[in-house]
Amino acid sequence: MNETTVFPPPKHFTEQAASASARSMADYERMYAAAASEPERFWAEQAAQLDWSAKWNKVLDWSKPPFAKWFVGGTLNASANCIDRHLSTWRRNKAAILWEGENFEQRTLTYQELHRKVAKLANAMKALGLKKGVRSIIYMPMVPEAAVAMLACARLGMPHSVVFGGFSAEALKTRINDLEATVVLTADASLRRGKEVLLKQNVDEALKDCPSVQHVIVYKRLGRMIEMKQGRDHWWDDLTFGVSEVCQAEPLDSEHPLYVLYTSGTTGKPKGVVHTTGGYMTQALATMKWVFDLKEEDVFWCTADIGWVTGHTYVVYGPLAAGATVLMYEGAPDWPKPDRFWRIIEKYRVSIFYTSPTAIRAFIRQGDDWPNGRDLSSLRLLGTVGEPINPAAWQWYWKTIGKERCPIIDTWWQTETGGIMISPLPAATPMKPGSATKPLPGVALELVDEHGKAIDKGKGFLTIARPWPGMLRTLYKDDERFEQNYWSQYPGRYFTGDTAVRDEDGYLWVLGRNDDVIKVSGHRISGVEIESVLVANKNVAEAAVVGAPHDIKGEAIHAFVTLKANVQPSDAVAHELSDWIVKEIGALARPERIHFVAALPKTRSGKIMRRLMREIVTTHKVAGDTSTLEDYSVVVQLSQQGKEEDEILGAKAGNKK
Ligand code: ATP
Ligand code: MG
Repeated sequence: MNETTVFPPPKHFTEQAASASARSMADYERMYAAAASEPERFWAEQAAQLDWSAKWNKVLDWSKPPFAKWFVGGTLNASANCIDRHLSTWRRNKAAILWEGENFEQRTLTYQELHRKVAKLANAMKALGLKKGVRSIIYMPMVPEAAVAMLACARLGMPHSVVFGGFSAEALKTRINDLEATVVLTADASLRRGKEVLLKQNVDEALKDCPSVQHVIVYKRLGRMIEMKQGRDHWWDDLTFGVSEVCQAEPLDSEHPLYVLYTSGTTGKPKGVVHTTGGYMTQALATMKWVFDLKEEDVFWCTADIGWVTGHTYVVYGPLAAGATVLMYEGAPDWPKPDRFWRIIEKYRVSIFYTSPTAIRAFIRQGDDWPNGRDLSSLRLLGTVGEPINPAAWQWYWKTIGKERCPIIDTWWQTETGGIMISPLPAATPMKPGSATKPLPGVALELVDEHGKAIDKGKGFLTIARPWPGMLRTLYKDDERFEQNYWSQYPGRYFTGDTAVRDEDGYLWVLGRNDDVIKVSGHRISGVEIESVLVANKNVAEAAVVGAPHDIKGEAIHAFVTLKANVQPSDAVAHELSDWIVKEIGALARPERIHFVAALPKTRSGKIMRRLMREIVTTHKVAGDTSTLEDYSVVVQLSQQGKEEDEILGAKAGNKK
């Protein structure tokens, strides 16, 4: 994957970069060095970009690692920082949110309108007796009210937990109970691929078994007839009708929890990641400005659902704190046709577009006619997050969407980190397709070998050697698992769980999770590297590569491949792909078997669940946690197919089981 092609930032982009941006690698090096030599001073300068009701008296308290406190003694409110502070400026009538429903409905909320909606909901919740410290669950579609709900909770100091609207009643129930939430904010229903998703019905189902919940606030999205339980359920519109439009934001301790977010669970049982206020908001605002080169006139579209951390930091808290215009879209990317995203970009003149590799691979599969049929000239910056982006997909994004004019920021971060940690700075950093490039200023990123020794070059575990403001503070009600999961491997270091390579130029290539590295005959092979080679083949749409135990080699490589729409699976194609891998990487990487599949199992945030595929090739069944799986039938098909293939192979070898 050590592509030699380097793409310097387009000249016109650098010339027009916003003033907050680094414009050269020298700028970046200066910032990075300043942050490394005096981290507290550096982060204090960033924190000063927020509005504080009382200033902190200590930047960092790291006396009881791994439990950090940032901006100790300071008080502020995230909601006030996202809204109120813009009201005294010309931005008061700037569009804060541009919204489009899947059925093409449109709404625009200015900062003043957003303020009124948030204040009214906060007042209504107060009237129900909800207050600081009480936990809320937000189970909403992608409508402006989802952001309103988050900001109203933040305004009162009620930690929220957003549960992705695509999750089942069961997944919702687990989260409500873990959090012991008092209130659930939801909607009657929502639209996804033209179908109605009955959110309130799922809430009712979940609440059969959630004793902590006293109130349910229901936003009327589609106006469906639903059951309303007397005394417990309230229509949002009724509750806020005639309520005061003024609600003072509660000044909160910098370490007051802002939200708990349960991670997607690619690696196991969901964990309740806790983020607090001052440090998180500092990281959100600073990265928003550095990485997205944000300007007043930008139309900023991060396609993530608010159910994921990306939706928290780069749909709500980061861009609104920066006073940006945020685009929000309710529905599916391919509805009613595969060009819906391009159509939205054309219509709203979107200038910054931030999406995921999984979405990009789906677009490639649908063909270039869809984006080519739309005017994408408003775009000036493209981004990706969530998984490593295969170089072939990067190249497509660069050419077909960005028309070789728009820098691509490949941003590496985690739910736990709160904000972007590794990324190009678009006006400064030369890009290498497939590399997230370099750590941001203030991020003490280090690669270590298995003994915890820092290494300059080559392959190692990705760790962070110093606390940073946006870091998770703990796992909800589980300090022990927090210490165990992230801090026990190498004392004093945050363990990301990812493996990466640093090349000659100091560029980082994230290879994925440590567990996803395959050990064949004593060699450590990156599944991601093989996947990238497969995806670069003309026949392949998507690929996932995992290891299965093997008597002789230790582990054997299994490749799961979805082919492009016009290609049929056959032994010939399998051989071709095998030879292609050997040619591109070497004989060591030759797969034991190539499995052609209709779809790969993914989390609901679109990430490939290699853990499940590993289980399938090992045991032919799935016993691990599947609550975050997007489509269970994919797993059923895969394990069925695995069994059949085994039987056929067994028969061929003459050793029927
Ligand atoms: P869980 O931790 O519950 O298994 P998850 O790790 O999928 O879920 P996230 O916090 O959303 O949940 O994802 C972070 C992970 O995604 C990173 O640790 C990394 O493996 C991967 N990732 C994110 N962005 C990138 C990127 N730009 N390049 C490579 N990998 C990335
Ligand atoms: Mg993770």
